[in-house]
Amino acid sequence: MRVRLAPSPTGSLHIGTARTALFNWLFAKHEEGKFLLRIEDTDKERSKPEFTQNILEGLEWLGLQWDEHLVLQSECINNHRAAIQSLLDRGLAYRCYANESELEAMREAQKANNQAPRYDNRHRNLSADEESAFIAEGRTSVVRFRIDNDKPIAWNDLIRGPMLWRGADLGGDMVISRRAPSNEIGDPLYNLVVVVDDASMRITHVIRGEDHIANTAKQLLLYEALELKIPIFAHTPLILNSEGRKLSKRDGVTSISDFKAMGYTSEAMTNYMTLLGWSVIEGMNERFTIHEVAKVFSFERVNKAGAKFDWDKLNWINSQVIHAYSSESLLNEISPHWIEEGWELPNHEWCIALIELIQPSLTLIKEGVEQSRPFFEEPILETDGQKQLEVEGARKALKALIDQLEITDWDGLEINIAKEVLAIAIEKTGAKKGLMMKSIRAALLGRMKGPDLLTTWSLLARVGKDRDRLRSCL
Ligand code: GLU
Repeated sequence: MRVRLAPSPTGSLHIGTARTALFNWLFAKHEEGKFLLRIEDTDKERSKPEFTQNILEGLEWLGLQWDEHLVLQSECINNHRAAIQSLLDRGLAYRCYANESELEAMREAQKANNQAPRYDNRHRNLSADEESAFIAEGRTSVVRFRIDNDKPIAWNDLIRGPMLWRGADLGGDMVISRRAPSNEIGDPLYNLVVVVDDASMRITHVIRGEDHIANTAKQLLLYEALELKIPIFAHTPLILNSEGRKLSKRDGVTSISDFKAMGYTSEAMTNYMTLLGWSVIEGMNERFTIHEVAKVFSFERVNKAGAKFDWDKLNWINSQVIHAYSSESLLNEISPHWIEEGWELPNHEWCIALIELIQPSLTLIKEGVEQSRPFFEEPILETDGQKQLEVEGARKALKALIDQLEITDWDGLEINIAKEVLAIAIEKTGAKKGLMMKSIRAALLGRMKGPDLLTTWSLLARVGKDRDRLRSCL
């Protein structure tokens, strides 16, 4: 059992491609087969090495490691040319000399007659003299593969069941190489190269998005013509936006590196992408790792209908993943962001205590930066914090607290000591406990929202940041 992902490096790793990769990987693991990776870099103008890099990094980040060596399609070009030559030699493909303006006129005429656009096979049976005349005119040619209109094309799709197409559905004889002088073969095109490469990589199952169904029909004809072993096909449903259209760049974030930068974890991404199209087995939790789902994965549970992308669900899964992290793992995820901010990290134990403090309220890894900011930087006094400090009795309460702190030896470790300081200050001023606590929060964080106050205070005290902040509010 050998499957593959065949992305084109013409953009960053798209969530749709990543989900296809995931289904391939899950199937390979379940069947104890191999998951291979081929970078389809034959479109020289649109392919970029940085996109290849982005795709490889994205797959690795998601934990979808491929087996065997990476295949670069551009390195297999001799095989592609040889296949085209063999089709030409056997009369299964031919050169078409029609130029752009002739093809345009043909399409216009079809439009005027309310016909679907298709190539009318006009150069299928050129005589030797006709061909010579075109060449003498200096015309270039594409190579076209003959498609018989009456030819039935059938396959049993692992997701969609029996599929039946006809040659006539495919828009006329298919171009398999780009325009070139008639003694050369131009750049081979997608449907031809995919078939040649999948066969030479001995791919047994082609699993890809349903936007490739028409290509599959074309490719089946090429397998037959090239006398290659036909793989099994599975077409996965598309990921849709909230309007039910294919999720695209216009919907904002679509690439895996963007999700990562926003603070989604790879565990949540693979968990959610599996749920986008695959239904859990009864009694199974919706939270799982790819290794758990690999044990039970099958295409029988993959839906035919497209799946709507749901941010709330992804956020819920991400928060569940983050809350389940050990504080060490979460620190590993968040500390690079802290360092990026230029913050100096105190000792490890302090960092772990801060992580434990903020962990329950995080939905995104990135939020760990904003929530930690007042522990590293001087806080900005926000409107709600300002208002709290203006409340009658607030400053008086804080003053009593500072006076008591100044005669207390507290390094932030023993929370009981803070409680005592608090109790004495409350007693001395007669302030309400609520007023005291809210005012401390405003003084320490500059705002009224935040995690547990005593822990916050003790962490700030341990890095010598509490007293100055309290004093500066008087
Ligand atoms: N390069 C194609 C794509 O990215 C590959 C499709 C396929 O899996 O055959 O859409």
